[in-house]
Amino acid sequence: MFSRRDFLKLSGAALLAAAFPNFESAQAEGPSAPPTIWQGSKRHRYVALTYDDCNWLYLMQDLEKLLAEYPDIRITLFPTGENLLSKESQDHGIWNRFYDQGHEIGYHSYYHVDPGVMSLDEVVNDFDMWNEALVKVMGFQPKVRFARPVGGNYVSRSFIDMCALRGLVLTMWSGAGGGETAGVMNNTFNPIRNGDIVLFHIRRNDIETTRAVFPYLKEQGVPSVTLSKLYDDLLIEQNQSEGCDVGAGSPLTRTCIE
Ligand SMILES: [Zn+2]
Repeated sequence: MFSRRDFLKLSGAALLAAAFPNFESAQAEGPSAPPTIWQGSKRHRYVALTYDDCNWLYLMQDLEKLLAEYPDIRITLFPTGENLLSKESQDHGIWNRFYDQGHEIGYHSYYHVDPGVMSLDEVVNDFDMWNEALVKVMGFQPKVRFARPVGGNYVSRSFIDMCALRGLVLTMWSGAGGGETAGVMNNTFNPIRNGDIVLFHIRRNDIETTRAVFPYLKEQGVPSVTLSKLYDDLLIEQNQSEGCDVGAGSPLTRTCIE
C-alpha cells in the first residue's frame, strides 16, 4: 500500500530536507512569513483536488467534460504562465470556462523553474508576469490567493518572501492522486481523509485516475472544494479556536486536534 510517507520520499521537499541540514530552521517563521497550507480542516468531509502545470490541452478538455458530469466537484488549477497563454490561443475561452464553473486558478511559476535557483526579485517578477498572463487570458483580474512552488520547494526563501510580499498562501498538498501514484485514491486503497489537498498534474495518468476518482468521491458523498473554500474554513476554525492552536505565525495546518 502506498502511504503518505512513501510519497514524501519521492517529493522535492524531502530531497531538499536531505540536502539542507538546517531544513527545520529554513521553514517559514516570524512575522513576515506567509501562511502555508498542507491540508484543510479535518472537521469537514471534503477534499480539494488540484491540477498543476496544465501542459496538455486535450487532457484539459477531457477534464472539463468530466467536470460537467459532476457538478459537486470543484478543482483548483495551477497552470504556468506559458500554459495560460498557449492553451488560451489553442482554445479561446478555456480559462474563463473553468472559472465560470466555479473552479479556481493559482500561481505555479511562469516557466516552471524551481524558485530555489531564483532571487527574490526574480520570483516576484515571475509572479507578476504570470499574473499579467492571467489577466490577459481572463479579460479581468481574478483573485489569486494560492501559490504552489515548482518542485514542491516550500523552503525556498525567495518563494516564501514573494508569497509574503504578494499576499499569497504558500500551498502544498497532503495526498497525491496521479503519476507514479496513480490509483492511490481509488476504492482499493480508500485513503481519503477529511480536508486532504490532493496533487494531480494535467497528464495522462492523472486524468485516467481522475476518471475513477470522480465517481468514487460521489459514491462516498465526498465533494471536492476549491482551495479558497478549504482555506476560508480553516480561517474560521482558527478564529473560533475550538480544538485548535491559534498560535500566531504557525502554519495553518497541523494546528487542530484530530
Ligand atoms: Zn509543476
